[in-house]
Amino acid sequence: MSASASAAAASPSPASVLNLNALFDNPLFAGGIGLASLGAAAAFARKGSIAVLGAARRRLLVNVEISKQDAAYPWILAWLSQPRETPGFIASRLTRIHNLSVATATGSKGPGAGGPVNAHFFLQPGYGRHIVKFGRAFISVNREKHNTANMNTGEPHEIVQLTTLWAHRHVFEDLFREAHQLAAKANEGKTVVYSARGLEWSPLGDPRKKRPLGSVILDEGVKESIVADVKDFLSRQQWYVDRGIPYRRGYLLFGPPGSGKSSFIQALAGELDFGVAMINLSEMGMTDDKLAYLLTKLPKRSLLLLEDADAAFVNRRQRDSDGYSGANVTFSGLLNALDGVAAGEERIAFLTTNHIERLDPALIRPGRVDMMIKIGEATRYQAAQMWDRFYGDVDEDHSGRARFLERLEELGLFGQYKDGRASHRHTSAAAIQGLFLFNKNDMQGAIDMAEGLIPRKFEA
Ligand code: ADP
Repeated sequence: MSASASAAAASPSPASVLNLNALFDNPLFAGGIGLASLGAAAAFARKGSIAVLGAARRRLLVNVEISKQDAAYPWILAWLSQPRETPGFIASRLTRIHNLSVATATGSKGPGAGGPVNAHFFLQPGYGRHIVKFGRAFISVNREKHNTANMNTGEPHEIVQLTTLWAHRHVFEDLFREAHQLAAKANEGKTVVYSARGLEWSPLGDPRKKRPLGSVILDEGVKESIVADVKDFLSRQQWYVDRGIPYRRGYLLFGPPGSGKSSFIQALAGELDFGVAMINLSEMGMTDDKLAYLLTKLPKRSLLLLEDADAAFVNRRQRDSDGYSGANVTFSGLLNALDGVAAGEERIAFLTTNHIERLDPALIRPGRVDMMIKIGEATRYQAAQMWDRFYGDVDEDHSGRARFLERLEELGLFGQYKDGRASHRHTSAAAIQGLFLFNKNDMQGAIDMAEGLIPRKFEA
């Protein structure tokens, strides 16, 4: 430090001392300083108390955050939506949920009505804070919507945060167990069908009532052979693991529309207590990458259903002929997705097609398609079985069934006429079902109207 500078510091100029004294003597200025220091002290104290509170909060409370992407999210909301009585005047007032939101699930469409007919409304805790009591613990629930969105679905991110005392942290395990049991119970006897929404699987409507296998009538022995094969596969996981073979099996069901392919897969899933994860390969926007990604993320315990498998082959032919490749799945994309290393270690896939002639033999390979099954036009056996399911109780001597089958033969609906000439006419199980539904309690009506089963293209 230079000598002149230190001298200046040691002896401040008399003018500046004078000024300072004058300032402090000024009551207005002194009051201002007092106020400012009080304010500073208050701010400091507030900061300090926030820090202390924050620390106490971290030590005394415990938080669990569940994001909307998590499978447990809907379970927790359903659990929170349950009506519950909290004993005690204050506790019951404290735990009343005042802010609700509604979740509506619509059912199937009415016949020809074009609009949803049945709807279920679930009241869920709305956004914001609520308090619930679980056992002896009070839990603060905070449901929040964020202003960021899921890139796949475009939906805003959402979380539910549960907070309770550190001492009660163990209630979360019980709470999650209870919520899961509740969800499992709601799905009991039901089949969950998943469809792809963006890059995610999400349940398609409400879980459907399980379809009994007996309600799908395929040709003699067909159903039994597939069911036995799938059950055998499910019992052999270790066999595959021991041999280092991917634990996958594929089935190709082919045949005209309305022969029961989808119904059978639905019923099989019910029988095995599996869900169905469905992708329509002809759907716009279903690309190779998307398909491959979705197959790596299959919902657990579900049958993969790839509908319209021929769509991938049509694309290939189009591309070969005119170089066009739309935003659809290609043949190699389908094979890659089926073979993919990451494509789920356990998988049962069903491919369906109405056009077997369009498929490529490369599809038939262990793990891709192990079994090809024709689910064809209705046979005499199926027509008889369906008759029994509808009219079995009123047609005790089977005379009605005999007349019905004879009528179908007269019309040549099993591929030939009664005298053995080929007719090339066929009908579908869906059409027979339609005829029976129209004549619910009227066997004769069904026989009289059997002509209506002749497909349009064969009508005179
Ligand atoms: P696909 O998938 O072969 O086009 P679906 O399974 O969608 O046929 O059948 C359409 C409708 O016809 C369904 O309502 C189903 O109940 C009925 N149906 C079709 N085939 C059968 C069958 N084999 N047994 C019982 N019902 C059938």
